[in-house]
Amino acid sequence: MAYEIKRSKRARLLRISVSPTGTVRLTVPRFVSLRTAEHFFYQKQAWLAKVLAKIGPVRPKLLVCALPPQIIHGYIENQVHLYVTQLGVAMPRIRLMKAKTRWGSCSLKTRKIAINEKLALAPAVVMKYVIAHEVAHLVYANHAKKFWVVVSSLCGDYKEQRAFLKTFNPHVSEG
Ligand SMILES: [Zn+2]
Repeated sequence: MAYEIKRSKRARLLRISVSPTGTVRLTVPRFVSLRTAEHFFYQKQAWLAKVLAKIGPVRPKLLVCALPPQIIHGYIENQVHLYVTQLGVAMPRIRLMKAKTRWGSCSLKTRKIAINEKLALAPAVVMKYVIAHEVAHLVYANHAKKFWVVVSSLCGDYKEQRAFLKTFNPHVSEG
């Protein structure tokens, strides 16, 4: 489902609103974390489904992420730092990307990791998995068995998150 996240300086409460055309907007007050906002959003899914059912069939819309990129970048950086420390490898450079076909990418040569900014719209555990996947590529460039052992050591429930990504957007592949 397409939805829009709006950071608001004035809002004091987390709020979900639905326009007559079916655009779902999640308003996040300035001092509420992305994680709390996500939790709230996923708790309201049953209610949201009812509201959208009343509107009737709606055309899919573009996902809009209005979260400041530095917030997303900072979150990714923390997570990457945690994982590289666990693996004992050097910190790579991190970049947010807008790719339409990949959730992430990693170049061993240049030691650069890129993460698709649209992952900020998926649950935090899913983004963590993609980050773990890219960090594991700092150890193994391919997707051989050894690679998945490393992924699993960073993200025990990675199979669940992979399954989520397939339904979240089947046209985007892992990096
Ligand atoms: Zn990969």
